[in-house]
Amino acid sequence: MDCIYDLAVIGGGPAGMAAAVEAAKDGAGRVLILERDKELGGILNQCIHNGFGLHYFKEELTGPEYAQRFSEQVKEGNIEVMTDTMVLDITEDKTIYAVNTQKGYQQIKAKAIVLAMGCRERTRGAIGIPGERPAGVFTAGTAQRYLNMEGYLVGKRAVILGSGDIGLIMARRLSLEGAKVLACVELMPYSNGLNRNVVQCLHDFDIPLYLSHTITRITGSPRVESVTISKVDEKRNPIPGTEITFDCDTVLLSVGLIPENEVAKSAGIALDPRTKGPIVYENMETSIEGIFASGNTVHVHDLVDYVTAESQRAGRCAAEYVKGGRQSQGELAVTAGNAVNYTVPQKIHLPAQKPVEIFFRVAAPMENKAIVVTALETGDELLRLKRLHLAPGEMEKISVPAEALQKSPGGIKVSIE
Ligand SMILES: Cc1cc2nc3c(=O)[nH]c(=O)nc-3n(C[C@H](O)[C@H](O)[C@H](O)COP(=O)(O)OP(=O)(O)OC[C@H]3O[C@@H](n4cnc5c(N)ncnc54)[C@H](O)[C@@H]3O)c2cc1C
Repeated sequence: MDCIYDLAVIGGGPAGMAAAVEAAKDGAGRVLILERDKELGGILNQCIHNGFGLHYFKEELTGPEYAQRFSEQVKEGNIEVMTDTMVLDITEDKTIYAVNTQKGYQQIKAKAIVLAMGCRERTRGAIGIPGERPAGVFTAGTAQRYLNMEGYLVGKRAVILGSGDIGLIMARRLSLEGAKVLACVELMPYSNGLNRNVVQCLHDFDIPLYLSHTITRITGSPRVESVTISKVDEKRNPIPGTEITFDCDTVLLSVGLIPENEVAKSAGIALDPRTKGPIVYENMETSIEGIFASGNTVHVHDLVDYVTAESQRAGRCAAEYVKGGRQSQGELAVTAGNAVNYTVPQKIHLPAQKPVEIFFRVAAPMENKAIVVTALETGDELLRLKRLHLAPGEMEKISVPAEALQKSPGGIKVSIE
C-alpha cells in the first residue's frame, strides 16, 4: 500500500474541488485529489466564455476564473493534489489503483471516496451518421479544447449537429474566430440548450437553427467536403425529398454527454440506466457505503453553480462518514412519474430530518404546468409547484420538506400535471 488517506476525491474539476474543500473544512482529515489532466479545473479550463458563477458568486465569470477560485481554496485547505494521475480502478473496500509518470502504478487506501469524474461526449460512432469517413468531424468539446487551449481553428466552414449548450457555444466561438457556421441542425422539434444560449450564440450571429432535421450524409476525402441534412418525421425518420446540402469542411457534433463511470462500474456501484450515473442518496452516497459521487459523473448539469452546491453536500457528508457518521434507519425511493425523465437523488435515507433537494429533467417542453410530489403508497399529494415553462434542456430543482417525507415512508413520486 503506497498511502492511506481519510478521503480521496477522483477528478479535480469543479465537482472534485468543491467536495474536497468542503470536506477539509468539515474536518475530514487527510484529503487527496487525483486528477488525470496536468492541472485542476476540469472542463472549465476550456470554457473561456462567460456565464459561470451567476448563482454561486453572484458574478459573471469565465470557466477558468471560476475554476481558479476553487483551486486557490484547494491550496489554502492543505489538500494534497496528484495531477497527471489516472485512476484505473477502485474496489468496494476503497482501495484505489492509479498510475502516473513519476511514481508509476500506485495503490492508495482511503476511508471514504468521492467520485467526481465528469462526463464524456457522444461521438459519431454512437449515433451512426451515414456517409464517408473523412477528417474534419469533431465532437464540439474536442473542437473547443483545440481552439481555446491549443490555439487551432478546426475549420473554416462548419455545420453543427445538435443544439445542446456546447454546440451553441461553439457556433458563436467559431464565428468570433472568423469561421462561417452554415447551420445548427437539431433532431428534436426544440433546442436542447439553455434559451439564453440560443439567443446569444445563434440569433445574434444569424446562424440558422434547423429543428426536426438531422445529417443524412457526410461526403469528402480526405477532408469533409459537404454535408446533407434532411427533415425528420415525428418518429425521427428522415423524409425523402427534404434534403439540403452545405459545402463545408467541418462537422461538429454536440449530441449528448454521458457520465464517466468506468471506475464506478468496476467497483460494482449500482448505476441508473436513465442518468447513466450512480444511484445516489440525498447525501450523494452511492450504493457502496462511504463512496460518494457528485457533479457530471452523477447526471449532466447545465450550470456549474449546481455542480458546486451538490459537491459541497457530497464533501460534507463524506467528512461526516469519515468522522463516524449517522446511522441510517432505512430508506425511501424517489420515482420519476409522468413526463419526468429521471430524479437525483433516487433514494433518501430515513429518518428524513431536513428538506431534500431533488433535481430532475422533463421529457419535453411544456407551458403552464405543475410539478407534483405524491406519496407512492397512498397517492396523497405532498407538494404542488406551478411552473410557467419547463424544458428538457433546463434542469429543475425542488425542495421537499422533511415533514412531507416523513408522511411517505413507502417512497415519493415526482410528476408533471
Ligand atoms: C462545453 C461546455 C460549456 C459549458 N458552459 C457552461 C456555462 O456557460 N455556464 C455554466 O454554469 N456551466 C457550463 N457548463 C457546465 C459545467 O462546466 C459543468 O457542469 C462542470 O464543469 C462539471 O463539473 P465536473 O467536475 O463534474 O466535471 P469536469 O469539469 O468534467 O471534471 C471532471 C474531472 O475529472 C477528471 N477525471 C475523469 N476521470 C478520471 C480518472 N479516471 N482519473 C483521474 N481523473 C479523472 C477529468 O480529467 C476532469 O478534470 C459547460 C460545460 C461544457 C462541457
